[in-house]
Amino acid sequence: MKNTAFIKILGIAQDAGIPQCGCVKKCCKSKWKSPKDRRMVASIGIVDQQAGKSWMIDATPDFKDQWQMLSECQKNNDIDGLFLTHGHIGHFTGLINLEKAVMNSHLLKVWAMPKLDTLIRNNLPWRSLVDKENIDLIKLSNKVPVAVSNSVLFTPVLVPHRDEFSETVGFVIQGPNKKILFLPDIDSWDEFNEIENILLEVDHAFVDGTFFNGNELPGRDITKVPHPTISTSLKKLLPFADKVSFIHLNHTNPVLQENSVEFKMVVDAGFHVAKEGDLLFI
Ligand SMILES: [Zn+2]
Ligand SMILES: [Zn+2]
Ligand SMILES: [Zn+2]
Repeated sequence: MKNTAFIKILGIAQDAGIPQCGCVKKCCKSKWKSPKDRRMVASIGIVDQQAGKSWMIDATPDFKDQWQMLSECQKNNDIDGLFLTHGHIGHFTGLINLEKAVMNSHLLKVWAMPKLDTLIRNNLPWRSLVDKENIDLIKLSNKVPVAVSNSVLFTPVLVPHRDEFSETVGFVIQGPNKKILFLPDIDSWDEFNEIENILLEVDHAFVDGTFFNGNELPGRDITKVPHPTISTSLKKLLPFADKVSFIHLNHTNPVLQENSVEFKMVVDAGFHVAKEGDLLFI
């Protein structure tokens, strides 16, 4: 089939973005004065050119710029819906931009798992989006595919993550030619054996690369940090290296620097680091 659908990387950072609020350490210091070195919070857009439609995964604190970036991919400058992974601040609070004081959208489709659906329906300011019909909130079910056009399907997959506010899902997106996985947050690969089967099945995967290793968190036990480190993933996911891009990078992560030893280790092992603005046909 022709290349008629693609993924666009809209952001690669952990929930706080880069630079991180209040950080004046080496990792962020120069970035405050250099807009080109800033990175937006992890999100991807999916565009089906044949259907003339597009969708975004997650509504991040950088929603404004990401909406603009994605809508410029379409003649009608419109976005047809949002899929949410979970209820942590970097992944859904951008919904605020749909409110009356900003876009005042009308029944924009927003797909979320049941607990996140309940959180949004019952708590201000999100509740008013439902009450005022800015959004049409639709419940997802684990592993039940949602067909958004003739050739694009989104399937949520539950993953272990500190689920104090909501469940957490990754999404498998099936396009006309390829399948991809978007999984920005997960506690560990050990609690998610399914990852190997999913990686066998997909053509490419964007996975949690929050921290490179424990050196980024002096004084903390890295085994208690609820993310697989990149150095763990380099071993665990090695058979699938060419399919894997790391995303959701913390401001302290050395792979953000392309001249770092750590970046070289990732690339030399055959893996990739996701890049804002990149396109991947699906
Ligand atoms: Zn996150
Ligand atoms: Zn920093
Ligand atoms: Zn999270």
